Amino acid sequence: MVLMMGTERKRKLSLFNDSVAAKMVKTNGNNLINHWNGKPYSARYYDIFDKRKTLPVWQQKDDFLQALKNNQTLILVGETGSGKTTQIPQFVLEAVDLETPDKRGKKMMIACTQPRRMAAMSVSRRVAEEMDVTIGEEVGYSVRFEDCSSARTVLKYLTDGMLLREAMTDPLLERYKVIILDEAHERTLATDVLLGLLKEVLKKRPDSKLVVMSATIDAEKFQGYFVGAPLMKVPGRLHPVEIFYTEEPERDYFEAAIRTAVQIHMCEPAGDILVFLTGEEEIEDACCKISKEVANLGDQVGPVKVVPLYSTLPPAMQQRIFEPAPPPVKDGGPTGRKIVVSTNIAETSLTIDGIVYVIDPGFAKQKVYNPRVCGESLLVSPISKASAHQRSGRAGRTQPGKCFRLYTERSFNNDLKPQTDPEILRTNLANIVLTLKKLGIDDIVHFDFMDPPAVETLSRALELLNYLGALDDECNLTKLGEIMSEFPLDPQMSKMLVVSPEFNCSNEILSISAMLSVPNCFIRPRQALKAADEAKARFGHIDGDHLTLLNVYHAYKQNNEDASWCYNNFINNRALKLADNVRQQLVRIMARFNLKLCSTNFNSRAYYINIRKAMLAGYFMQVAHLERTGHYLTVKDNQVVHLHPSNCLDHKPEWVIYNENILTSQNYNIRTVTDIRGEWLVDIAPRRWRENVLTLLL
Ligand code: ADP
Ligand code: MG
Repeated sequence: MVLMMGTERKRKLSLFNDSVAAKMVKTNGNNLINHWNGKPYSARYYDIFDKRKTLPVWQQKDDFLQALKNNQTLILVGETGSGKTTQIPQFVLEAVDLETPDKRGKKMMIACTQPRRMAAMSVSRRVAEEMDVTIGEEVGYSVRFEDCSSARTVLKYLTDGMLLREAMTDPLLERYKVIILDEAHERTLATDVLLGLLKEVLKKRPDSKLVVMSATIDAEKFQGYFVGAPLMKVPGRLHPVEIFYTEEPERDYFEAAIRTAVQIHMCEPAGDILVFLTGEEEIEDACCKISKEVANLGDQVGPVKVVPLYSTLPPAMQQRIFEPAPPPVKDGGPTGRKIVVSTNIAETSLTIDGIVYVIDPGFAKQKVYNPRVCGESLLVSPISKASAHQRSGRAGRTQPGKCFRLYTERSFNNDLKPQTDPEILRTNLANIVLTLKKLGIDDIVHFDFMDPPAVETLSRALELLNYLGALDDECNLTKLGEIMSEFPLDPQMSKMLVVSPEFNCSNEILSISAMLSVPNCFIRPRQALKAADEAKARFGHIDGDHLTLLNVYHAYKQNNEDASWCYNNFINNRALKLADNVRQQLVRIMARFNLKLCSTNFNSRAYYINIRKAMLAGYFMQVAHLERTGHYLTVKDNQVVHLHPSNCLDHKPEWVIYNENILTSQNYNIRTVTDIRGEWLVDIAPRRWRENVLTLLL
């Protein structure tokens, strides 16, 4: 097998040039030497290699490389799990010459984008393993606030947002020989903008190539956009999937999902189960309930391994989805089963082998945007027909499977939209407009978007940036806007950071920004809710949650970043470590622009007042006012909102600033809130905003 691989590789490589091939056939007795690091390949390498070769994309390797050679742009469509994300970048790596330096004298790389941070990390780890190299060396990844790559890196997986950031300093993306836009069907905002940018880059850099990869949704649309680019289809390895609908609509999809999982485990033959739910809390809850119910059934059923999957899960936990089902408890006993409970990350981004049963309640958390009020919220909404189709496909990868849709067939036919709208049509565009401005694209209205956003959404974004002072009245980037665009943060947060030295509290605003940029740092284990809440209360600042976060950060540093201190205080150590790292990165950006690091004297009354004022300078549009009726109204759009129960306030302030507005089962809840003074708005919020919005109130 070793020899065959050697010759096969050598033959393929001659497509582009022989320099890599020459290195690869150096042998050491019977073992091939891994030319990336000079060591003999490990036994594991050969094991994985045998598995890789069975993936559908391998059957078209020659065709793919030929098409890549003959075209500048290529569209590759293939069923999820056919090996696009893990294999195609390696094919490209074999075929292109990265050794010859570019005109700047630097070695070139291959980039493969992913819409999801977690997919970029997980897939790059897998590919490093497949290539038998250490992650961060030849194969790396780069996601917001975390760069795991080096000068040796030849293949980098990165989020689409990161590639867009790189374009800000390297407008022609000259360090990349080939760019692979993966999961293009997801149509994230960053991918959509990259599509437009790359079209221009390709014209200016005839030596570069683009591969657009997508699951089977909407492929023709990409062909229409990249005129002349060939479309390659990788036939899936799909087995038939039997679809079941409920007869009546389910009142509670969560309960129904758990019930169905347990029933499958009791009644259906061996095969793992994948359950789609919408978010972390729901998923953890479901995992608990399923485990408990199965345990109650005693030894008449096999053991289960219930594994959660969502974006903020620590990397070691993510890997558990790839572990096999548990063995029977005793020889000849009922077989074990793996049950994965996941967000729609398992829809197309990550493929889990061995799934035979899919439970699809028909919902996902999606960003919903109302341009009229410039408001954006994450809502649990019905999925599209295309998504439902993708989900059921997950059941038929290795053998015939079953998909249980927890809605009626009528509802599938009549209520579900054919496709999910691209993100660009349902999101706040302020961030992306700032990025485009920084990239020198002035005429945003006429930018070559695949689906142009509504003019009203664009003008709202321009207006927000104008209020923040990032754009002048002619919509040109101001000096302030230029600095703001350098921070990988929302414009409001960047603004707050950039002006914080003026309020003599940049040290504190840096800590707050870092804490707001990482997953929730408070742990509330189900079995210790009371103790956890008491621990949190010890950090609580009566004037607001932002200040509470600051207290946590300070306490963490005072206790020397000690993991056991975190554990004893119900603080998520990983989140704090990450926050510390984020803070250092933000400090570096501040230094680049000579923004002073300073604090007000802690014992002075002004200490917290300055911090709160600096926050208002960024978030003046996210203010709510307490009404006589006892509820809050958001100032920008008069929406009734409630304080999220997690808040630390000991009173109901007349004015609050909030970080998020989330819709729970019945209400809009503002989360992470801090008490501010109405009169500060007069000093701090820009005049135009006050005239338009505030005159009614003050
Ligand atoms: P596609 O991008 O076409 O959906 P992928 O390249 O992601 O396909 O997946 C190809 C195969 O690699 C799948 O069988 C998947 O289960 C496997 N795979 C991916 N990541 C891992 C991992 N971390 N551990 C084990 N197998 C993995
Ligand atoms: Mg993929």
